[in-house]
Formats: sequence, structure tokens, C-alpha cells
Amino acid sequence: MDLRILTSAKSPGISGGLTYGSERDIKAGSIVTVPLRNNSLEGIVLGIGEANAKFKVKAIENELYPEPLLSPEHMKTMEWMSSYYCCSLRQALRPFLPGKPWAALLPQGKVYYRLLDSSECKGSKQQLVIDSLTGKDKVSWDRLRSETGATKATINVLLKRNVIEEIVSKEYSAIEHTLPSLTRPTLSAHQSEAYKQISNSTIPSLLFGVTGSGKTEVYMQLIADAIENGKQAIVLVPEIFLTEHSIPRYTGMMDEKYIAILHSRLTPAQKRETWKKIRFGDIKLIIGSRSALFAPAHDLGLVIIDEEHEWTYKNEQSPRYHAREVAEELCRNFGAKLVLGTATPSLEAWYKAKTGKHTLTVLSERYGNAVMPTVKVVDLGNVHFGNNYPFSKTLFDAIEDRIQKKEQVVLFLNRRGMATSLMCLDCKRRVMSPESNLPFTVHKTPSNQFYLQDHTSGATARIPDECPGCQSARLQSVGAGTQGIEAILKKKFPSARILRADSDTLTNPEEMRSLLSKMENGEADILLGTQSVVKGLDLPKVTLAAVLIADVGMSLPHFRAGERTFQLLTQLTGRSGRKVLGEVIVQTFRPDCPEVKFSALHRTTKYLDYELTTREQMSYPPYSSMLRLILRNTDQKHRAEKTTEVIRVKFPTLKVGCSPTFFGGGTNWHILVRGDNPQQILSTIDLTDIVVDIDPLDCV
Ligand SMILES: [Zn+2]
Repeated sequence: MDLRILTSAKSPGISGGLTYGSERDIKAGSIVTVPLRNNSLEGIVLGIGEANAKFKVKAIENELYPEPLLSPEHMKTMEWMSSYYCCSLRQALRPFLPGKPWAALLPQGKVYYRLLDSSECKGSKQQLVIDSLTGKDKVSWDRLRSETGATKATINVLLKRNVIEEIVSKEYSAIEHTLPSLTRPTLSAHQSEAYKQISNSTIPSLLFGVTGSGKTEVYMQLIADAIENGKQAIVLVPEIFLTEHSIPRYTGMMDEKYIAILHSRLTPAQKRETWKKIRFGDIKLIIGSRSALFAPAHDLGLVIIDEEHEWTYKNEQSPRYHAREVAEELCRNFGAKLVLGTATPSLEAWYKAKTGKHTLTVLSERYGNAVMPTVKVVDLGNVHFGNNYPFSKTLFDAIEDRIQKKEQVVLFLNRRGMATSLMCLDCKRRVMSPESNLPFTVHKTPSNQFYLQDHTSGATARIPDECPGCQSARLQSVGAGTQGIEAILKKKFPSARILRADSDTLTNPEEMRSLLSKMENGEADILLGTQSVVKGLDLPKVTLAAVLIADVGMSLPHFRAGERTFQLLTQLTGRSGRKVLGEVIVQTFRPDCPEVKFSALHRTTKYLDYELTTREQMSYPPYSSMLRLILRNTDQKHRAEKTTEVIRVKFPTLKVGCSPTFFGGGTNWHILVRGDNPQQILSTIDLTDIVVDIDPLDCV
């Protein structure tokens, strides 16, 4: 038979595999060695076909392990990824296997010797070995060598004469595969109903439950079911920081030795060890960030994606996959159950639930009768800021009050607060681009001239003298960064100890943890930051949380800006935690915008339905598919514009636009294509040095 094999050594032009022959029956997913040029390389068997008589192919050298390293279900998922995300098989394989050499993923054999018959002995060296083995069941080679100084030659002689026998035990074959004894949590009536509905569902489930409604207990029951059926379960959490946070809940359920933690910050050796334990050992539950989805769970029965709406589930490097989409394919191949849990469903998941592709399960009651915090909305349109933009007097007073009482404050600014749009202070509308129906962004030319740019279509416009909606002249650029805000706070509250958490001050999850422990130990009064500070809200001394400009994210020229803003606001206002947060202040220029209004009232489904309608009218995802071509080399303007023109002419039904990327410093460009099957364009354009991003999350 002919085998298509992907070798571990990277070689340009063969990222789809090479063909070799084999006399033996070898399964896809197996690990082999093959000759290439003058080397012997390891490789993974991608597929098997009939031998083609026309071409004589080289034969493989060895099969390194009798069972495939990757299951047929994993292989099928990998091929799907390569085709769906338009990447090579080599790129698609990468998340499935830890670093090379792949042979290091195989169980290592341990050699033992046992005495059979001591009468045939000659010489003192042989006698030493026999003495050492006498009266024992078996002795390992390592021990025998160190005790007797015996060489392999001596051993071989004894083996040949049947004086001793050799026993090779595989690292994991000695394990008596057992099932953990499981402690199941007690469920409330609501939880029990949700659990039954998900159990009985034959399609993926969306478990929609506010924070504190008890989703975890439902997860635990489902995990227990999977394990009792002899299957493995994977739980994905959006951030590594949360992986460790969630472990104690699950170790309370079963012995730790059945649980594996898998995330991208493990060392290569740790990753390899964990991988082997999952593939060959006794692991039943795998917890981790998005990469844990690719754990070699051969008996996968359940995948849970907690906080499914989080953007960290999208991989922003090739393969540019979304864990939610890959999980759906993986579960389909395994016949496994998929559960998406969230308090603020993504529009994609909500759409699938609405159209019957997912089962919708709602957990509405709060566990243990926790209460919602009071939400105060401050209309920034009526505030005279002086030099203190964007602080209102209401917010200053509330902060002052907490500092007096020695309580703590968390101040929150949307991730990209610097995205500046032009807003009318009278009608509260933003100056919009007619091309994309998204807000224009304010930019400055090198000669300090302000102008507007549409980052979706690439259109530009001059700054208008008056509001296009109501003709008011009161147009203001709105946007703010954490640094400027920190400076204002320092001036206003000189005695307050302020911590800042944003992409400038945080480079890894440990730093966030250190900021939070400073807050916990009372070493700081105010925590100011971007979305990561939401995690600070579970701290007991935090009694005030405030969003500085709730609608600032809405200035971002992005069709997901509203959804993102709503998710962040809901995390703040819908938070009960185990302690009552007290007060939430939401400052906004548009107190009536649906994101602010619905989140303050805790009306999530109302918002989702509203946003779905908007997407449908504008034919944005999930009502269309989208792809993004990223051109990263210097000065791509000409190529981007030319390519866009080609697509427009050839595919008139698709919507296509190009612009410099928002954070690309003017040299990086991207092309956004949306409509029905935008992938059809890919075969008609030259993709050299172009990054293809299917279903992009970030499209600014
Ligand atoms: Zn106006």
C-alpha cells in the first residue's frame, strides 16, 4: 500500500506530505521512520491508499509503535481544519502534537531480568548476576548494572543459554486501568432540570446562565456521566489564570491522578509528560486553555467550553482556528457531547440556539439567593469635565467615599479606549461611514490635519463642521487611555495607592495575579485597567466598580463592537460573586444605547435578539461568512487595493473592502470579504505573503 506521510523535518513544498510504500498494514495516525535524502526522519501517517504501479516509491523504514499516536477522529478533525481554515496539513497538525521529536511521545520501555535456571553458569561475572537475581521475582537492568557492574555482553550470553529471561514493560502498560470514584455535587431543582435537558440532547447545548447560577455543578454531573461511561472529558477555560483557579472544584470530585492540566505555558517537557499520560495513562479529565482541546483523548465523550463568548478561544496564529468551531467538529467525529456555557452568549452561539442547531438550556435562578448590584448610569453628555475628562462628579464623590472608608475601587476602561470617534454632544450620535454603517475613526495626518477614516471599507472623509444628524456644532472626539486617567487620579487623590493593569503593564498572567494579591492584601486602593481587571471584582474589599466610558468600545470601527461592549458591561453589572459588590457606576455618552440600557437592566436575551436583527439587516456574521486577508509587508496599499478590485469584479455578490489595519502603523493592510462562501475567492488570487483569517474576530 502507499502511505502519505508528513515528516517532522520542515521542508518547503512538502507541507502536505510525501508518499512512501509499505508491505505491512499501517493505520493512519501511526508514527514511522522514513528515508529522506540521506537522512532517516520520523513522520506521521496521514492517509493510506492503493499502491500506484506507475510510480515506484521508497519504503518506510520502521513503524515505531504498534498503535496510532493520533486517533482516526483526531486525524479527521485535523484534515477538516486544514481545509476549513485554509492552512497546510503541517500547520493543522501542529496543535495536536507537542514539539519534536515525536518519538518522545511514545511510552518508554523498562527492561527487567528474571532468573530461570542457575545450573548453566560459567565465570564469576555471570555468577554475580545470578546471585543478584536469586530469590527475587525480577530486577531492573539499571539496578542490576549498578549492583554487579555487568555488561550487556554478559547478559546476552545468559539470555542465549536460557539462564535468565528479559521482560520489557511498557511505561503505561503496567497501569491497571481503573475508574475514579466520583463525588457528584447536589443539584438544585433548576440545576437538575438543566442537567437533564443537556443529558438528553443529541446536538450541542448552549447553557446560558448568569454568573453564580451554578453552571459548574451541572458541568460536574456531565463529567461524572462521561467518566462512568468509560470516556474522557475536556473542560476549556478562557485563560490560563482561570485554569488553576478551577482545579480545586474538580479535585474535590475525583482523585487528582485522573486529572490533567494542559495549557500553552507548560514547558516542552511538562507538555510531553501530560500528553503521554492522557494518551496512554489513566487521565479522565483534561482542564486547560484553548490548546487543551487537542489533547490526545482517544475516548472523548464530552467537551465543555466555559465562557464560550471569550475572544481568547480564537487562535490568532496559523492555524487561525476558533476552539468553538473545532470542538463542534471534534465532537461530531467522536460522537461526543458539546456544551457551551456562558452568561452572555456570543451571537454565533445564540444564533445556533435560535435556529435549532444547538439546544438552549437556561439557568436563570441565582444560586444561594445572591443579589444583583445597584447600577447607576451617569450621562456624560451633561458633564462639564474641565481638565478631568472622562470623570464625572458623581464618580469622583463615590471614589472619595470609598477611600475614606478604606474600601477598594475597580475602574474599568474598554481595552481599546484609544479608539477615537467623533460624537455629537447633542444627539449623541457618532459620525458614521455610509459605506459600512460603522463609526468613522479620527486620525491625524503627519502635518497634524484631522480626518476621518472607515477601517472596514477604507473610505476617508474630512471632519464635518456640524453634526450630519442634527446640525449641531458640538462635535467632540471621544476616547481615553489608561495612562491619562491614572494621571488625573493621582492629582485628585494624592494619597491613594493606584494599580494599573493594561497591555503596557501586563505581559503575562502571573503579573495579573500579583496585582490581585496586592489588592487582596490591602496594599492598594484603586485598580485601574482594561478588561482583565474584571477579575478583581471578586475581591472582598472592592465595593465600587465603575466603567469610565461605557460606549467607548462602540467607537471602534468593528461590527462586533456592540457585542463586546455588552459582554463587558454585563460582566460588571451582572456580577454577584459570593459577596455583594455594592455599587456599579456606568458612565456613558449614550445612556439610551442598547448595550448600556440592556446590561444595566440585566436583559441579556433582549439585547442578543436586538443585535441579531441588526446583523441580519447589515448581513454581518452570523448571517454571512467573513474572511480577512492580512498584508503585512511594508507598504501594501497598492497590492491591497488591486486585489480588492479583482475580487469586486470577479465576485460581485460579495461585499469587499480594504483599509490599513487599525493598529498596523499605516503599513499593514487588510481586506475584508463577506457574504455567502467568501472562501471561493482564495483560488483566484495570489496568496504569497498573505495571511488568510477565516471567521476573524478581530477585524480592525
Ligand atoms: Zn447631532
